[in-house]
Amino acid sequence: MTHVADIDCAVLGAGVVGLAMARKLAMSGRDVMVIEAGPSIGTGVSSRNSEVIHAGIYYPPGSLKARLCVQGKQLLYDYCDEHKVPYQRLGKFIVATTPEQLGKLDQIATQASLCGVNDLYRITGQEARRLEPSLQCLAALVSPSTGIIDSHALMLALQGDAEHHGASCIFHTPFIGGQVEDNGLFSLKFGGTEAITLTANCVVNATGLSAPAVARALQGQPNHLIPNTYYCKGSYFSLSGSAPFSRLIYPMPDNAGLGVHLTLDIGGRAKFGPDTEWIDSEDYHLDPSRAASFYTAIRHYWPQLPDHALNPDYTGIRPKIVPAGHPAADFILAGPATHGIPQLVNLFGIESPGLTACLAIADAAYAALAQTEMV
Ligand SMILES: Cc1cc2nc3c(=O)[nH]c(=O)nc-3n(C[C@H](O)[C@H](O)[C@H](O)COP(=O)(O)OP(=O)(O)OC[C@H]3O[C@@H](n4cnc5c(N)ncnc54)[C@H](O)[C@@H]3O)c2cc1C
Repeated sequence: MTHVADIDCAVLGAGVVGLAMARKLAMSGRDVMVIEAGPSIGTGVSSRNSEVIHAGIYYPPGSLKARLCVQGKQLLYDYCDEHKVPYQRLGKFIVATTPEQLGKLDQIATQASLCGVNDLYRITGQEARRLEPSLQCLAALVSPSTGIIDSHALMLALQGDAEHHGASCIFHTPFIGGQVEDNGLFSLKFGGTEAITLTANCVVNATGLSAPAVARALQGQPNHLIPNTYYCKGSYFSLSGSAPFSRLIYPMPDNAGLGVHLTLDIGGRAKFGPDTEWIDSEDYHLDPSRAASFYTAIRHYWPQLPDHALNPDYTGIRPKIVPAGHPAADFILAGPATHGIPQLVNLFGIESPGLTACLAIADAAYAALAQTEMV
């Protein structure tokens, strides 16, 4: 007997990845409903980030992060051109400010080229200063393909595309539990003002920070394959006055983040961040006293940063799946080949470069849905 589901595909989460996935599924002819706990699209990690289109420099060669960033960057630039999403290919400098860091620049360039990023080139401190007169560094790596994007405009475009192909989005509707039924359908319970239960043929778990908890609440999948959640907060401080640089300026990366860098938004406003602070729960409070370490970090490459020029701006939380002190984990796109359940994909650990890679993540997650052989 054939069982008819209430909905074909339920995409849980309307961040940039859920919306990209909804678009992909809808354009492939599936009926899609995006179901979001918050009041609108993009209220999670997708609106609390640096809005940088990353080149794909830092990730372990061959990792999903490396491959999907490089593919996703190109897909994203093309998508922005087609859909008039504001972006600027500003380029970035990765700067060495001490003699010990000079060798690290070469290591970064080598790693980048193993990841398929072959457009980096090195310049001297003098050349860097000619291009960016306020910059202090001994040498820099230039990444011409790094850019910035209006992430909200991107999400609106993805939502519009998905809806144009028949998808719908509902808000204020948190997934609270469910199970994989014997007939292969998913039974999904939602809270909110009107609690409902729906059946679906296919589930995409794109709930960002909540993805492991949501997977655990969807019973019938092997629990040991679901990672833990760790929260790594990043704070941002904006700069009073005009931006001192016209490109993005990055110090050397550290284990959990890319260092306190300077980015510009589409309006030309300069902000610094994110730093790294491991926390126990989802808490977006910004502690103004963190400014002290920002002044120190920034003055390594911009010594003229005036006192009192930094203002607390916002925070974001990286959806980590390994704790502090461990090397960063790769993205996990857990489809049927991982857990054995047809038509279910869980997206875990979608931290940076998830914005850059969103279209490539959607392609890969769509492919993962079709792979039924367990590996
Ligand atoms: C500090 C910081 C800086 C970053 N900078 C960059 C950058 O410059 N470039 C880049 O490429 N990437 C960057 N990233 C990464 C990028 O922002 C993320 O990878 C991306 O936004 C993840 O999108 P998402 O859709 O997976 O998650 P989210 O945007 O968090 O979307 C998940 C959605 O699921 C919803 N949800 C949660 N629980 C439920 C539930 N039970 N039921 C229904 N809905 C639910 C949430 O409300 C949310 O809207 C950064 C991340 C951080 C934290």
